[in-house]
Amino acid sequence: MSRSKSAESVKVVVRCRPMNEKERAANYERVVSLDVKLGQVAVRNPRGSSPPKVFTFDSVYDWNSKQVDLYDETFRPLVDSVLLGFNGTIFAYGQTGTGKTYTMEGVRNDPERRGVIPNSFEHIFTHISRSQNQQYLVRASYLEIYQEEIRDLLSKDQSRRLELKERPDTGVYVKDLSSFVTKSVREIEHVMNVGNQNRSVGSTNMNEHSSRSHAIFVITIECSETGVDGENHIRVGKLNLVDLAGSERQTKTGAQGERLKEATKINLSLSALGNVISALVDGRSTHIPYRDSKLTRLLQDSLGGNARTVMVANIGPASYNVEETLTTLRYSNRAKNIKNKPRINEDPKDALLREFQEEIARLKAQLEKKSGRRRRKRRRRRGEAGDDGTDDGEEDDDEDEEEEDTVAAEGDKTDYWNVQQEKLEKEKMAILEDHSLVAEEKLRLLKEKERKMDDLHREKEASELLAAKIKAMESKLLVGGKNIVDHTNEQQKILELKRKEIAEQKRREREMQQQVECQDEETLELKETYSSLQQEVDIKTKKLKKLFAKLQAVKSEIQDIQDSHIKERQDLEQTQNELTRELKLKTLIMENFIPLEEKTKIENRAFFDEEDDCWKLRPITRIENDQKMMTRPVSAVGYRRPLSQHARLAMMMQPDVRYRAENILLLELDMPGRTTKEYEEPVIAPKVAAALEDALRDEDEIQVDAAALYSAGSLGLRGLYGGLSASSSAGSLGAISPGSVGTAGGSAKKPKSGRPKTGKKVSTPTSAHSPSATGLSPLYPQSRGLVPK
Ligand code: ADP
Ligand code: MG
Repeated sequence: MSRSKSAESVKVVVRCRPMNEKERAANYERVVSLDVKLGQVAVRNPRGSSPPKVFTFDSVYDWNSKQVDLYDETFRPLVDSVLLGFNGTIFAYGQTGTGKTYTMEGVRNDPERRGVIPNSFEHIFTHISRSQNQQYLVRASYLEIYQEEIRDLLSKDQSRRLELKERPDTGVYVKDLSSFVTKSVREIEHVMNVGNQNRSVGSTNMNEHSSRSHAIFVITIECSETGVDGENHIRVGKLNLVDLAGSERQTKTGAQGERLKEATKINLSLSALGNVISALVDGRSTHIPYRDSKLTRLLQDSLGGNARTVMVANIGPASYNVEETLTTLRYSNRAKNIKNKPRINEDPKDALLREFQEEIARLKAQLEKKSGRRRRKRRRRRGEAGDDGTDDGEEDDDEDEEEEDTVAAEGDKTDYWNVQQEKLEKEKMAILEDHSLVAEEKLRLLKEKERKMDDLHREKEASELLAAKIKAMESKLLVGGKNIVDHTNEQQKILELKRKEIAEQKRREREMQQQVECQDEETLELKETYSSLQQEVDIKTKKLKKLFAKLQAVKSEIQDIQDSHIKERQDLEQTQNELTRELKLKTLIMENFIPLEEKTKIENRAFFDEEDDCWKLRPITRIENDQKMMTRPVSAVGYRRPLSQHARLAMMMQPDVRYRAENILLLELDMPGRTTKEYEEPVIAPKVAAALEDALRDEDEIQVDAAALYSAGSLGLRGLYGGLSASSSAGSLGAISPGSVGTAGGSAKKPKSGRPKTGKKVSTPTSAHSPSATGLSPLYPQSRGLVPK
């Protein structure tokens, strides 16, 4: 449902700002010269004597250019086509401080220096006010892309990041982006100001931030008009006003970790934009890398798509910026060759205007039905009354009916309500005064009347609410043609038309001159006839010189481009190196410190999200099927909870509360399986047991006699030293030297306490309760399972 047109190129204009104070103070040379008539920019090399580099564009604007000139010549036609239902995009591209924001927004409170955005507001709403038989709905959104994250500048929650989504019918869009319906220039300006405030609030250093973020102001204009087929058609035009991040090379040297990540993201969108432009212009590329960045994805339509696009390349005139200026001009020069196929968006599915219209129609029908019901009710009432009334009465009623119908048709609702209320009041009074009624009956009737009055009130309120809602919705839809007869308006219109004509003429003049320039060289050689050999030599030498100069220019251009490519490659290599290093470190950490099963677990959970273009982790769920977990056991009809068969029976037998809604679930503690063993005494050889027994006897009873040691048999030894060693092998006993025994014997009077007297249990010194184990600091038992990995 759209009219397609032939392909048209992206329009590229160049704007050079004036020297600023600092540059003038430092006496910088001006290296940029512009030929406005011809649409050419020449950049001189401040060092060396190579000829200036010349670029030709759709038009160029020098430092004397006014905002309004730019608007009338370059932007107005684009906004006009948005009003017709095309999509349109205006980019400002260039180094920081060259006037991108100045071109897009300009100086806020100065009408002379207002930028494209405010000028387009004026343009759009003036156009609407002059339109006839058309309904408009204007919406505005404002977003920012910073480090590949999208922030809604109009939302209350500035910390939230938005996502890009794609739908087959409408393409890429920002999910949950807020948009405000605006009814006037003032309202949409307010929207812009709020967004700008949020932009600077969100960043500590505004300049730093703005030079690294892309701001996009989106105006959606929907227009509904009855077509020649008698049907209502809606056209939707979307205007993207883009203030790009500064194009200067961001220094990445020495960046690490977070900073590195930031550095790689800063100009990702911008370099992706460059790649998209290259791929589009190349002609050989089959793949256009729109998906490489948020910006290019969002503006896909504007680059090689169905939108009209104007790109403003902003440059500075001073010599120290010459590198950046040349880069900007080369970049824009390429963009000139992008071909778009603009088309009108007619009757799109998601037109808000259609929704509005349908909603209004629905509400109106609802209101109509309400009043209709009222009338019918009345009629019915009267009909009933007429049945048992006289003929006269019926006639009366008919007249009444007609009267009331006309009243309703006039829409005099307040009157209707008042009449109804009065009628009820009167009836109430009549009941009060009617003495023939019994008091009870009277009360009943009175109550009924009051209820009716309440109903009436409620109905009235509801109707009023509905009417207000309709009014509010209708007020958002703008219709023109109100002040079409306004005299000044008429004059303004003529003035604008004239301006437009002039701009058009200028454009044609420029184009023709550019063509003439091109043809000049070609035709030269055809026309020439030489009268003498000498003349031919002269002319050919001159031509040769000219061509040679051209060759030199092309050669130096090639050199320049190669240089810039080398620089870019070095940059990329450096980034790559840093990223590789980071990656290696991470891999190293993973290999050495992350258990293999953890790694596999994470690997299994990871998946690539195509939408967001990044890896994500699936949430952990123990239960395979979530549904299983969610469903509750079904209870019998009428009971709040599931009941056991027993409880149900018991309830039937005797309606005892005890069994009401008894829970059928009997939950017991899930005891874990045992992991320890029952204690088993060690098996001790009888000899050892005897030795132990000996050793545990009170020491007083032990006779210490060194001499006995030498003569005594193994039994005596056992008696003496059995306590020292649990092992009873003779070998180990023999290892104890007599000297050591002697010392042990000399100081053998040890305190008795602390030694268990009885029991065969071998008490281990590591026991927590053993005081002998405590040296200076208490020795705690080693807990199982708490050992750090
Ligand atoms: P950018 O957004 O590209 O970083 P700005 O728009 O902030 O640059 O411009 C930097 C400064 O230069 C501002 O103070 C602005 O007023 C001034 N400036 C830029 N372009 C022009 C121009 N064409 N005429 C006058 N002043 C300009
Ligand atoms: Mg800026």
